[in-house]
Amino acid sequence: MKSRSLFERALAVMPGGVNSPVRAFRAVGMDPVFIRRGYGSRIWDEDGNEYIDYVLSWGPLILGHAHPDVVEAIKNQVEKGTSFGACTEIEVLLAEKIVESIPSVEVVRLVNSGTEATMSAIRLARGYTKRKYVVKFSGCYHGHSDGLLIKGGSGLVTFGVPDSAGVPEEIAGLTIVAPYNDEEKVAEIFAEKGDEIAAVIVEPVAGNMGVVPPKEGFLEALREITKKYGALLIFDEVITGFRLSYSGAQGYYGIEPDLTTLGKIIGGGLPVGAYGGREDIMRLVSPEGPVYQAGTLSGNPLATAAGYATLKVLSENPGIYDKMDRLAEKLCRGLKDIMERAKIPVFINRAGSMLTMFFTGEEVKDYDSALKADTKMYAAFFREMLKRGVYLPPSQFESVFLSAAHTEEDVEKTLEAAESAAGTLRKL
Ligand code: PMP
Repeated sequence: MKSRSLFERALAVMPGGVNSPVRAFRAVGMDPVFIRRGYGSRIWDEDGNEYIDYVLSWGPLILGHAHPDVVEAIKNQVEKGTSFGACTEIEVLLAEKIVESIPSVEVVRLVNSGTEATMSAIRLARGYTKRKYVVKFSGCYHGHSDGLLIKGGSGLVTFGVPDSAGVPEEIAGLTIVAPYNDEEKVAEIFAEKGDEIAAVIVEPVAGNMGVVPPKEGFLEALREITKKYGALLIFDEVITGFRLSYSGAQGYYGIEPDLTTLGKIIGGGLPVGAYGGREDIMRLVSPEGPVYQAGTLSGNPLATAAGYATLKVLSENPGIYDKMDRLAEKLCRGLKDIMERAKIPVFINRAGSMLTMFFTGEEVKDYDSALKADTKMYAAFFREMLKRGVYLPPSQFESVFLSAAHTEEDVEKTLEAAESAAGTLRKL
C-alpha cells in the first residue's frame, strides 16, 4: 500500500499529513489516497486504482484532467521561463478574457488564490466606503483570511470548528454573520448598522456547506439593500465563476455585484485568484490608488497560460455548459431514485454542474439545515463509493463537480456504484 506508507511519511512532516485539511479524509474515517495522475474524468492513485473524479481539484478542472490545450499552453510557456515578476502578454490576455466575459468586471487584479482575492476585495471595499463592518453568511467559505474565518463552512464545519483559533476577537467583531437565504435578517442588520457596513460578501450559490442555491429573490434583496445603504455587494465566485455559466452566477441569475472574486477555473488547475469589478472602485488599488495589495507571483505566466487556455476552450465551446448540466441532472435523478428505492432519506441540491446529496429528508436551504445531514452515513457512502472506483468529496459539506470530460458512461457507472453502495448503507 503505497498511499499508506506515503501518508505515514507525510504525517511526520506536515500537520495532519496534508497541506489543506479536508484532504486528510478524517471526516470519512479513513486514510487519504495519494494521487499519481489524472486524465479526463479519471484519476489514478499511487496503488494503481482508477477513480471517476467528482472533486476535480475542488472545482478548477472544468475541462477535466490534463486537457490537451491546457497542457500545451503550460508546456509552451514553461520553456520560456516560469516567472519574471514583471509584465507579460499572457496576464493581459487572461485579464482581457475575464473582463470581456463578466460584464460587471470592468477592471481586474490577478492574485494567487481565492483567499487572497476575497481578502483584497474586503480591504478594497473598506478603502472605498471608509467603513469597517463586513456581512457574511454562515456556511459560506471565503478563504482563510482572519476576518472571514467566522462560521466558515467547508473544512471548518467538517472539523466542527466554526471559528478558527488565532483570530483576535477585535478582528472577528468586524464580521457580522447572517443566515444564508435570510434577507430579513440582513435587513435587520442594515437597520442597525447600515452606515457602518462596507460590504456584503456572499457565495451566490453556496458550495461550502454543500451546495445551497439562493432562494428566489435573495440575491436581488442583497443587491437592493447594499445599494440603498451605500455598501458594496461582493459576489465570491471562486467556485461559480465560469462554472455556473460562462459569466458565472451573476450571468446565470442576472445580478450585477460591485466586486467579484474569482479563482479555481481561471487558473486551469494552477494557483490563481482574481478580484475585479466597477472601474471607479478598482482604480483605488495600488499603484493607482491608496489600497495596497501586491504579489511576487501574481499574474504568473504558467498559471495565466493555463487559465487563458481553459477560458478559451470554454468560450469556443458554449455547449459544454449544457452538456455538464444534462449529466448533472442525470446523476441527481439517478441518485434520488436509488436512495428512494433503498429508503434512505436524502435531499439533493443542484445548480448547473455542482451538486450535493445531503443525507437528510429535510430541505437544505442554509447552514443550520445542512448541519442536520447524517455525516456518518455520508462517510460510509463515501468509502463504499471509493471502493467502487468513484472519488467523491471527502466531506458531506462540499460540492460534487462535473467537467466537460465526464461522459454518460461515467454517470452510469457512478449510479451502478451508488446502487450497490446503497445496499450496504441499508444494513447500517
Ligand atoms: N471562496 C470560495 C467560494 C471558495 O470555495 C474558496 C476555496 N474553496 C475560496 C474562496 C478560497 O480559495 P483558495 O482555497 O484558493 O484560497
